[in-house]
Amino acid sequence: MKTSSFQIAVIKGDGIGIDVTEATMAIVDAAQNSVGGFSLNYNYISAGAGYFKDTGKDIETNGEETAGTADAIFLGAIGLPSVRYQDGTEISPHLRLRDRFQLYAGVRPVRAYPNAPQRLADPRARDIDMVILRESTEGLFYSAAVHNRCPIETNDEVQDIMRITRPTTEKLHDFTFKLAQKRKNRRGKGKVTCVDKANVFKSMAFFRQIFDERSINFPDIDKSYSYVDAQALDFIRRPWDFDVLVMENMFGDILSDLAGGLVGGMGMAACGEIGDNHGLFQPAHGSAPDIMGQDKANPLAAILSGALMLDYLADKSGIQALADAAKIIEDAVYAGFEANTIRPMEFGGDMGTKAVAKEVINRIRPN
Ligand code: ATP
Ligand code: MG
Repeated sequence: MKTSSFQIAVIKGDGIGIDVTEATMAIVDAAQNSVGGFSLNYNYISAGAGYFKDTGKDIETNGEETAGTADAIFLGAIGLPSVRYQDGTEISPHLRLRDRFQLYAGVRPVRAYPNAPQRLADPRARDIDMVILRESTEGLFYSAAVHNRCPIETNDEVQDIMRITRPTTEKLHDFTFKLAQKRKNRRGKGKVTCVDKANVFKSMAFFRQIFDERSINFPDIDKSYSYVDAQALDFIRRPWDFDVLVMENMFGDILSDLAGGLVGGMGMAACGEIGDNHGLFQPAHGSAPDIMGQDKANPLAAILSGALMLDYLADKSGIQALADAAKIIEDAVYAGFEANTIRPMEFGGDMGTKAVAKEVINRIRPN
């Protein structure tokens, strides 16, 4: 039976994570009010570096379980340079969530907004509108970041592993092709590019082979391939030609920052991390301690991540109102830039976190 009430686990976290999360929840509520047809209940979970400093725990007792029973998880940002675990690493309970819930599909939309900084002189750069799919549980991050172990680590040699598995890669490519189908309806592109280094690494040839195998089920989608080095060049030469791109973990880490830089900065970089049964949504930026508590942070990365979350819930439940609410938020942001009534300080504008959020709300619910 379809349920129209959803539980959202919310972790505000540290630094600007707190401000941008509050802004996002207010906007998601405004979109919900404007559309109707579903309701959201927020379950706030304490976690992060500040919480660790106060309590010695990086997430509240049973916090991971609470997140696991929610329909979606929203996270602001976690980590403060001054607070560390005993081993000297930064506080990172969210990385445990990613591993625990196997959030393999990292979704990074990259879109140019009118009047936001444009790094390329070519006028076609205004049409940049793509999504990078970054595999997030294996690849070259597997041994190091994900499992914190090294196959060989002696005084003379250190190795890391590039791990590509069939089950995860099949699901990742299916997810990618389905996303391209969805965007085809919305934007008329319907293209997927597999970014790899299949000419050098067996693991990457395997990644591409599975891409080909899965593509057979999606004949309506144009598929192409590119080597990661050529893709870096093409992101500077002709980024407007791409739609959906899929790649392993580290290639995605690097290229999503490059692509993000083309269309503004960290304050626009939304992110979804999606697995078979769970989805976590957060801005791609960190806690930015240099500007925390000053109402300077651009909340749009978080706000656009909130829209991704609504879209995810729409797919999961089949409730169209959720997709409508996501679109209302995206359209409000786009229209605000177009009319120059959204002018974040991050881009040299005069509007702080609260002013930007208020303008988005005004556009959702004209008063
Ligand atoms: P992490 O290790 O969590 O990725 P980081 O050290 O890479 O964090 P971020 O917190 O992502 O750093 O931010 C880097 C810098 O970019 C910040 O110091 C800040 O000046 C700027 N910045 C990041 N996010 C925003 C934002 N939403 N609005 C304005 N400026 C931002
Ligand atoms: Mg960073």
